[in-house]
Amino acid sequence: MDDKALSLISLQHEFGMAIGCDSDLTVMLKIFLRVCLTRLDLTSVHVYLEKGANGFLIKATDKGNGHTKIEHFLSIPKRKEISIYHQCDLLSLQEHRQQPVFNEQSNVNLYRLEIPNHGLLIFESRYVIAEDILKALEPILKKLARACYSSIIHGALLQEIEVRKRAERQIQFQASHDGLTNLFNRAYFNGLLVPAFKESIRTGSVGCCIQIGLDRFKTVTDTMGHAVGETILITIAQRLQALARLDINIARLREDEFIILLPDLGLSKSFAQQRIVQVIEKINRIVEQPIFASDSSYKINCSIGYSLFATGSMSVSDVLKYADIAMNEARHQKPLIGVMFTREMLKKIENKAAYINEIKQALIGNEFELYYQPQFDDEYNIIGAEALLRWNNPNRGMESPEQYIKIAEDSDLIVPIGKWVIEKTCRDIATLVANGLPEKFSKISLNVSPKQLIQQDFKSTVISAVQEAGINPGLLGLEITENVLIDRFEYIIKIINQLKQYGIEFSIDDFGTGYSSLAYLKHIPATLIKIDRSFVIDVDKNPENEAIVAMILALGKGFKMKVIAEGVSNKHELAMLIKLGCICFQGYQFGKPMPFSEFVELVASQNNTAQVLS
Ligand code: C2E
Ligand code: MG
Ligand code: MG
Repeated sequence: MDDKALSLISLQHEFGMAIGCDSDLTVMLKIFLRVCLTRLDLTSVHVYLEKGANGFLIKATDKGNGHTKIEHFLSIPKRKEISIYHQCDLLSLQEHRQQPVFNEQSNVNLYRLEIPNHGLLIFESRYVIAEDILKALEPILKKLARACYSSIIHGALLQEIEVRKRAERQIQFQASHDGLTNLFNRAYFNGLLVPAFKESIRTGSVGCCIQIGLDRFKTVTDTMGHAVGETILITIAQRLQALARLDINIARLREDEFIILLPDLGLSKSFAQQRIVQVIEKINRIVEQPIFASDSSYKINCSIGYSLFATGSMSVSDVLKYADIAMNEARHQKPLIGVMFTREMLKKIENKAAYINEIKQALIGNEFELYYQPQFDDEYNIIGAEALLRWNNPNRGMESPEQYIKIAEDSDLIVPIGKWVIEKTCRDIATLVANGLPEKFSKISLNVSPKQLIQQDFKSTVISAVQEAGINPGLLGLEITENVLIDRFEYIIKIINQLKQYGIEFSIDDFGTGYSSLAYLKHIPATLIKIDRSFVIDVDKNPENEAIVAMILALGKGFKMKVIAEGVSNKHELAMLIKLGCICFQGYQFGKPMPFSEFVELVASQNNTAQVLS
């Protein structure tokens, strides 16, 4: 064997050794390219590889699917001019195959060597590379192709493992976290609570669950849209997350409710409570900070209740239930230090449940009745009446509507009860019409709760009741309070407008006691304002009430709405109201709410006589 052959074999041997030294494609190629550079005395060497449509370097078998393209992969030494070869002369190089192309710009020969099925090597050399050396490289390039293939497979495998791991981590995360806020979800929270609870029982160390409910969140989403609602939830969640630094676990429980676990607060209940109150004060502070969403700033308040656990007399689900009860209690009280669950709350809930049951029975057993309170003008003409619900409880006698209506509203029983009121009022109006109505008699109004108004079938319930009774819709009035607009503002306004078009008029009851601003009010398509009784009481002696009544009368004028004073209970109040310009009245001074039979008689008597106010 001559020297030349020997040196070629040794060259091949050296190249061969450099191939496959690493399973990572880049590392392996770098090692190989360095040997090329030194052994062939090259200026620069470049690798171009084929890429598949999916972005991964393709395997040899993927070829021919039409999605491959050659891309620059690696250059050594990395020279600025590399970009030239990028765009470049790959095509012309292809044509020349084994022949170098001389690049005048950089004064080098460019050799194109194919890595079978995988790409190209481009050698830059100031010198001509001998033909037999290039020939000797051919088996090396085949070996390089095989090594590329293994490395690519290995890389793809690693990538797939990573993708799978990531997917697994994602699934795990989703299973334990809330999709919107990234806080823990309820199930995961339960998983944290169980061991904390058991540990508490074992050691006697107090633990606590704090439940946070955002106030009037539904109103915000209903009026401002879900995107704003979501921004608020995410912002609050992020702020609460900051508390996690205090070794606290936080989860999103329901739409606008969060729960916090404070385990192991020590043996002293009073110390534990101090710590809890500190956390609650902090929560209140962070929740109340203004939240910016859709170019507006929102101030959200929250209600916070908590339950302690340290004894075996309760279960894990009790802890959650009690925190919920305490939070609901906080919705009414709103103390800044939250509300702690007490056993009395359970008793209250039991009583309420029993009462709700009684109301249900009352509806089935026909225990409800409608009373009518007449309304008069300043010439003592009867102009209408208000239908007021009465419940003659077989055991307790007459119940105050203030009490059962609130509970009926909370439990949604107001919906069937309200339907009964609507139908009965319409039937009673038909009876009155049949007997003949006095000249000035305008309408009978009934009270409608916000819960009724948002029912899908509210409009049809009212219209059917009117049609079935065969009355003129103009004889029926509906009283709503300003608070009716708290939820689903636009929808409610739409329904009111539709019923108004049908001929039914709306009045705003208890005017001046609600939350609404004048800006809100002007959107309510009502035609009558009812001044709340609290402003009528002692209006003759109380200058503040006098000023409020005067203002409401002016407002009515401004909005072109009629005004009626409620709860006029003596002639002094009446005289002052007349002096202030009020001409419609309802109150004990004129008549208490009375059973329908009595009201029929009153209307009949009015048909004949017209008293003039003295
Ligand atoms: P409201 O609609 O403001 O009804 C007026 C209330 O004031 C009635 O109380 C009436 O009896 C009382 N009132 C009228 N004049 C006087 C007065 O001169 N002095 C005093 N002390 N009170 C007077 P009531 O019947 O106890 O009803 C209380 C509230 O219960 C009503 O206030 C209304 O909000 C609600 N309510 C009554 N019936 C229904 C109903 O059918 N459906 C709904 N959703 N709510 C109703
Ligand atoms: Mg009313
Ligand atoms: Mg009222």
